Amino acid sequence: MKLEILEIPHPLLRQKSMPVDAEEKEIKKLLADMLETMYAAHGVGLAAPQVGILKRIVVIDVSREDEKPNPLFLINPKIVAHSEEKAECSEGCLSVPNQFAPVERFVEVTVEYEDADRQPCRITGDGLLAIALQHEIDHLDGIIFVDYLSKLRQKMIMKRLEKNRKRKALEEAE
Ligand code: ZN
Repeated sequence: MKLEILEIPHPLLRQKSMPVDAEEKEIKKLLADMLETMYAAHGVGLAAPQVGILKRIVVIDVSREDEKPNPLFLINPKIVAHSEEKAECSEGCLSVPNQFAPVERFVEVTVEYEDADRQPCRITGDGLLAIALQHEIDHLDGIIFVDYLSKLRQKMIMKRLEKNRKRKALEEAE
């Protein structure tokens, strides 16, 4: 089932998400729904608060469109190590539609998490995977990539979003 993706400035996107406890049921249904929602929106990552669920759950798939899907399900993910080196790369977010800006991130991160079967796992990623891991884990703490930008740039993005929404509303009214 496709879920609705919340967009900034929705207040739920600013909340801190709760850890998923061991008895939690229905996680697999939520993971499947989140993955479907992410693929439909052509995203590489989606965090549960983006669909209004304040739980520490993330789905990521950084495979290219011409590759076999390679979804990664992360429950209670935590960055346990990172490179010293950082690099700047253009980022976007499904909650900030069609807006992109450079953000500085660690080049490599190691994340501990539980997989869809609640088994403890550990992954080390660089490149797009490292960016996605940091970006999505930020969502669990109410942090959006625009927070790393200058106030001026944030204002410009909000203005453009507002304009796009107005245009969309007009188109739908026609
Ligand atoms: Zn995002």
